[in-house]
Parts: sequence; C-alpha cells; structure tokens
Amino acid sequence: MINYSIVVPFYNEENNIEPLYREIEETMNKMHSTYEVIFVDDGSTDKTKKRIEDIENVNFIRFRRNYGQTAALDAGFKASNGEVIIAMDGDGQNPPGEIPKLIEKLNEGFDVVSGWRYKRKDPILKHIASRCANIARQWLVHDGIHDSGCSLKVYRKKTLQNLNLYGESHRFIPALLKIQGYKIGEVKVDHRARLHGKTKYNWKRGIKGMVDMIGIWFWRKYASRPLHIFGGGGFIMGWIGTLLLFVLFIMRVMGKISLVNSIWPLIAIFLILVGIQLFVSGLLADILVKNHFGISKKTYYEIEKQRKAALKQETYQQ
Ligand code: UDP
Ligand code: MG
Repeated sequence: MINYSIVVPFYNEENNIEPLYREIEETMNKMHSTYEVIFVDDGSTDKTKKRIEDIENVNFIRFRRNYGQTAALDAGFKASNGEVIIAMDGDGQNPPGEIPKLIEKLNEGFDVVSGWRYKRKDPILKHIASRCANIARQWLVHDGIHDSGCSLKVYRKKTLQNLNLYGESHRFIPALLKIQGYKIGEVKVDHRARLHGKTKYNWKRGIKGMVDMIGIWFWRKYASRPLHIFGGGGFIMGWIGTLLLFVLFIMRVMGKISLVNSIWPLIAIFLILVGIQLFVSGLLADILVKNHFGISKKTYYEIEKQRKAALKQETYQQ
C-alpha cells in the first residue's frame, strides 16, 4: 500500500525540477512512509521533458501539448495510488517542507487540508488582485478558507474520486469538495518567491476566476433546481410588467394620463418579455440538469455511508 502520492504539474519549469524533487525526497524520507512522486509535464517546450525523465524515481505523465494546470493536476490525480494525495506547484514557491504540517492537520479528522499563504511572496499587483478575489469568493462560494488559490494541498483519496475538473477549476477544488459535503481544513504555510522561470498567468486569470466563481455559486445553490432561480426571477418580472400594463391601461381609460410620450408602456412590455425569456431559460436548464443526472447516473447528493441489513427470516406457524 502506498501512503502518499505527490502530484506536481510543470509547464516550462526546467530549472525548478531537480531542486524541488530533492526537497520532496528529503521531506518524505523523514516521514518514514511509502510514497510515489508523479510529475506531469504539461506540454513544455523547454528542457522540462528531459529534466523529469532524468530523475529515476519519478513517475511521469507528459501531455502532447499544453492543456493547462487543471488538466495536468487531473491527470496526476487519476494516476495516483496513494491513500493521501499531495499537490503543489512545480515552480518551488510552495515549500515541500510544509507537507508534514498539512498531514498532521488532515489526521485531526479532515478530508482535505489547504495551505494558506499568509505571507505571499508575489508582486504587489497580484497580491491585491488575489485579496479582492478572496473576498468575492468568501461571499459567493463559501468554502470557509482564506486562500483557495494555494496549490499546496493534501487530499484523502476518496475526495478526488468524484471530482470533475475542467477549465481552470483547480482553484476552486475546496469549494467543489465542500459542495459534496467533505470537511475542509486549513494550515498556514510559507511561500517563496519564484527563483527561476516566470509565472504562466496574466490579468486574464482574474476575469476567468470571477466567472468560474459565479458558475460555482450557481451550481452550489441551484444545481438541482435551476427553475427556482430563472423561473422565479422570470415569474416576478413578468407579473410586475403585467400589473404595470394593467394600471396604465385603467388610468388611460379613465382619461387620467396620456401614454403618447410615456416610457412606462415600454418598460412594462420589456419586463413581460424578459420575464418570459427567463422563465423559458429556467425550463430549459431544468431539462438539461435532469438529462445530466440521468445520463451520468450521478446524483446531486453524496452518500457517506450506507448499510443494507440482512433480511430477517420470519417463520410463521400455521
Ligand atoms: N502550470 C502548468 N500548466 C499551465 C500553467 C501552469 O502546469 O498551463 C504549472 C506551472 O508550471 C507551476 C504551477 O502550474 O508549476 C503554477 O503556475 P505559476 O507558478 O505560473 O502560477 P502562479 O504562482 O503565478 O499563480
Ligand atoms: Mg508560482
């Protein structure tokens, strides 16, 4: 049995690989457990490929082209055999020396423990953007942790089995797991400045993150009942519009107002049309969700444990 799998994605990190591996090895050897290291080369175009192959004890996966950090992590997770899976960045910003702290916390009874880079060593602009994103995340996503973007995390194997990672959703894994009812913990960890290479992201990350967050908010609240939000909104708008139109009509008939230069009829019609549109979107979303759960045979709830007791044999005396 393998105790730990360490999964690290690399995209053009040629000078970071060897030092990071040494550090991982040093830390893991101190833990006196069995472990495997899985390095994922996300379609690098520099010497990353060779540097990974040169390390004998490493399992590796290589993508034919660059698919992104989320895909690389997903492939690594799927190839893991450990009871606990440890993920971190390949640029050396997450110190492997912090792993035992995370494991200790996991053993207190958590399913996932996330690192919290409480003293980030990143450029000031990134710092500010990240702060704003974290505030929005607390409000929309409710994952209860400070720093969801920290890649240094440890997971119990079972948590990753039903996790669908797509797009850039690796930043929201705690939120996705919390939706499934897992217990998420957090530990303060060190963070280091990048020594070699450069960051693979730019300002577009902020926009994508925000949109993803709204997607997760929607999924968390309305995955099983989209008609409630769309249909509800549409219903209210449609009725306000109809009521407004009715009042305008009565007032016009009674000769109290003239509608020739009035904007109100337009507003009423607009509300009715948008209301109908929203309601129809809700019906369509409802069909889609039913299809999704039907085809994938998934349920929107997660069962932790189930027992089916043996049938009792009753003997009747006749
Ligand atoms: N990464 C990857 N594929 C990508 C982009 C990034 O595998 O398309 C890896 C990258 O090599 C690093 C980690 O993901 O190991 C985090 O990337 P980076 O350090 O650029 O992110 P930042 O620290 O700036 O958030
Ligand atoms: Mg980095």
